[in-house]
Amino acid sequence: MKFRLLLLIPIYLIASISVSFAQKKPRVAIAGIAIECSTFSPARTAEEAFRKRTGEALLNSYPFLREGAPMREKAEWFPAMVASATPGGALTMETYESLTGQILELLKANAPYDALFFDIHGAMSVVGMDDPEGDFILKVREVVGKDALISTCMDLHGNVTERLAENTDLITCYRLAPHEDSMDSRERTVVNLIERLESGKGRPAYKAWVPVPILLPGEQTSTRVEPGKSLYASIDPATKQVGVIDAAIWIGYAWADEPRNHAVVMAYGDDKDMVVRTAEYLAHHFWSVRHQFEFVAPTATLEECLANAIASTKKPYFISDMGDNPTAGGAGDVTWTITELLKRPEFKSDKGKTLVYASIPGPEFVAKAIKAGVGNKVKGTAGAAVDNRYAPPVPLEGTVTSIYLDNPDNKEVVVKIGSIYVIVTEKRKGFHYVKEFTKHNIDLKQADIVVVKLGYLVPELYDIQADWMMALTLGGVNQDLPNLPYKRIRRPMFPLDKDMPMPNLKAKLIK
Ligand SMILES: [Zn+2]
Repeated sequence: MKFRLLLLIPIYLIASISVSFAQKKPRVAIAGIAIECSTFSPARTAEEAFRKRTGEALLNSYPFLREGAPMREKAEWFPAMVASATPGGALTMETYESLTGQILELLKANAPYDALFFDIHGAMSVVGMDDPEGDFILKVREVVGKDALISTCMDLHGNVTERLAENTDLITCYRLAPHEDSMDSRERTVVNLIERLESGKGRPAYKAWVPVPILLPGEQTSTRVEPGKSLYASIDPATKQVGVIDAAIWIGYAWADEPRNHAVVMAYGDDKDMVVRTAEYLAHHFWSVRHQFEFVAPTATLEECLANAIASTKKPYFISDMGDNPTAGGAGDVTWTITELLKRPEFKSDKGKTLVYASIPGPEFVAKAIKAGVGNKVKGTAGAAVDNRYAPPVPLEGTVTSIYLDNPDNKEVVVKIGSIYVIVTEKRKGFHYVKEFTKHNIDLKQADIVVVKLGYLVPELYDIQADWMMALTLGGVNQDLPNLPYKRIRRPMFPLDKDMPMPNLKAKLIK
């Protein structure tokens, strides 16, 4: 009996020691809003468009923070909310205040914190407000206090104002476009944060910020090709230097008109000289290659793209319908391109070259097609409910070839008109995966021409294309930047002011 008691005491002590160790884990919150918004589109993004991840679901959305992952054990995590939406139009002030209000309430519930992982895109627009992410981080700062470390991860198409840079302690962004490294970048954001907490080093001593007067679309700055490839590849070695923790290059977002819309370079760490030199080196590298940025595929009018695609023997021949790319912020319901396609004599008969068009939203048309059923005729209109500046709702009359009901929030149908298969959805959406087509029994490899509302092709579609052109079509993310009605961005700006003088690329140390 005595022996057992003696044995129990040390176990109890060990347990209490481990409890006190556990209590020493830093308390880290997670919050953010992710969207990019074209202000050159009449669309508005409502709160319903946001997917709100909270609690365990939010934590599990980061593979490196799931149960059993080493990083999970490093801290006590308090996932408040990350709200994310497909790119679209600007938010109204009410939507912005509602979303931020909910996130701040959730944050307050578990305060205080040692740190916060701020997961944002960086190109949100709110009607009547400049720099929403800068405003949001100030509100977050009020909750977490000035001593908590904030580590921010962004899309490289986000914008970094001095205010945002000032209020985050660590900051980084993706280094690949298409964003195949988005999760790796988030992991780096968290790893760097935990390292600063564990080592007790805390806030980095220096943050350098360099605004670079370049404003280019993502379609010209893919890291798959030069000069984006080498530019972004130069970041990693720069961050391996002693005294530098991380560095990042933001291309910025071209379809909003605020003073913050331009490229930015940042570096941070504990060695002032190295931090400044790294940021300036990357900024100079960026500036020196500015004339080399080009569209990642041949670019032409829709008419020229079609002429090439029709004449080609390669299939599938992809055409990006760039102007209304919903994943860049287009309304996604511009009917100009599909209207033009339906006029073409080459596709009038079902013996013509097969063309797959993805996609146009039209909830009433979808309902009609479902009612008609596969194999039957349907007639109605679709699109142009939001952005009708270039063409009215498009009349569609043909045979229903597919009905897809598995996503009750966004049912889809396919209608065959002549030799064109038009995918009609209830809500706007981007088609990024092969399975999005195969679920409609469309074998992309058998199609002659595939027209998608996209800019650069996402990896799965890129892999399947036999040839590809990008069409300069109309819409909220028109790629013809020099002719966009900018009023408020900083000038001079490359390439709008082609012969602008060498800008000052000196790094500013942010307090
Ligand atoms: Zn992006």
